[in-house]
Amino acid sequence: MFYTNNSFVRNAGIIAIILLTPPATIILWYTSQYLNGSFSALFEYLAENGLINGIHKIWAPVFFGSKTAWLMITIFILFEILLMKLLPGKRIEGPVTPKGFTPVYKNNGFAAFLVTIFLFWLLGMQLKIFDASSIYDHFGEILGALNIFSWTFCLLLYFKGKYSPGSPESGTTGNVLFDYYWGTDLYPYIFGINVKHFTNCRFGMMSWPLLILAFAEKQHELYGHISSSMLVSVFLQLLYVAIFFYYESGYFNTMDIQEDRAGYYIIWGVMVWVPSVYTLTAHYLVKHPIELNNIFSAVLIITGVLSFYSKTEMNRQRINVRKNNGDYKIWGHKAKIIRAEYTNDKGEKRKSILLVDGWWKIARHFHYTGEILGALCWSLPALFDNFMPYFYVLYLSVLLFHRARRDDVKCRIKYGKYWDEYCKRVPYKVIPGIF
Ligand code: NDP
Repeated sequence: MFYTNNSFVRNAGIIAIILLTPPATIILWYTSQYLNGSFSALFEYLAENGLINGIHKIWAPVFFGSKTAWLMITIFILFEILLMKLLPGKRIEGPVTPKGFTPVYKNNGFAAFLVTIFLFWLLGMQLKIFDASSIYDHFGEILGALNIFSWTFCLLLYFKGKYSPGSPESGTTGNVLFDYYWGTDLYPYIFGINVKHFTNCRFGMMSWPLLILAFAEKQHELYGHISSSMLVSVFLQLLYVAIFFYYESGYFNTMDIQEDRAGYYIIWGVMVWVPSVYTLTAHYLVKHPIELNNIFSAVLIITGVLSFYSKTEMNRQRINVRKNNGDYKIWGHKAKIIRAEYTNDKGEKRKSILLVDGWWKIARHFHYTGEILGALCWSLPALFDNFMPYFYVLYLSVLLFHRARRDDVKCRIKYGKYWDEYCKRVPYKVIPGIF
């Protein structure tokens, strides 16, 4: 996670992240909602009030959330747990861990997504049984409550992993700060629920479409219509999330699930950072009802869809080539592969396949390019008055370039000479010819 053996630097980095990220979510919300989305207005505000006092003035009123916010969060959590348990879905097994543990999932993500979105649209936006747009009005309180909830939840997970872990990939390092940050268990289960499956998919990813729909509804309430910029942005984001849930089982093969333990880094990230930052462009657009011309809208939609297609296909190619033990056709010919060997944590020899074909031949993490381009397409409708709508794209680029490096380190350790051979044949990490 941190590329240093210096424990002082590592601890300082963790403290900085834990202290800075929660106020960042609140400040971003405040700037978008009350300062016209302008960072220069924010700097003026902080210069006038002083940094600490200014942050205090923004955060204090929403620090503990509100009754309404806690109620909304509770209903959402209970509803998603219910869907997770009740909706039918095939039992699927995730990748076996180095210590031989096989996580199990119920594959009903897409059904849960459809039911959630449909009921939200019907009850909150059509029949008005609850007021969907009020989520925008209470969003600061919701973020305040989510911060408190996830700090506490991470503490609970810390102790759970220490004393009653759900998988053999667990344990402490002796550094409480690091263990709280990184987690003590890879696959915690509570009441039979796979915690990371719930937090990452059914909470974080599911909150995203609901929030942006609520923001679109708020714009409708304020201006009597939904602008074309909001429509393009929300459409692309909904499509992105729909694809995510359609291939939810593929997510169980990703680093979030296979590598990241259930600590502050991933749990706070999916429970607070995702609802706050991933929805920022739509939140900003509420008070900026920009009308786009049809050609620009079409270019954004077509480019966005192609970006999603490339990254989804890349994920699919990897899963399918392994499922078929290398006997798989890509773009009309038999896929070129490297048959790699590695030794797991128990000292057993294992075999795996590295694909050197299709999208995996272009760059080792070319799907990150599609990911970033797609996000740019749903940010560009906000045009260029402020930087705020591009905050997510900037963050995503930093995250994914860092992740490409992390994954290379992991794969080099795991596959040794086989990874070196793959790197020789596919020399670039993310963007061919550049990086
Ligand atoms: P990958 O899905 O690429 O998973 C990386 C793993 O794939 C490696 O650790 C290795 O695992 C395996 N692998 C690497 N090279 C090859 C190869 N040539 N052939 C076959 N397998 C290979 O990465 P991520 O988990 O980072 O991303 C998954 C998806 O999620 C991407 O589409 C990404 O864009 C998206 N994403 C989105 C984020 C967001 O916030 N919006 C954040 C992060 C990711 P093994 O040990 O099994 O060999």
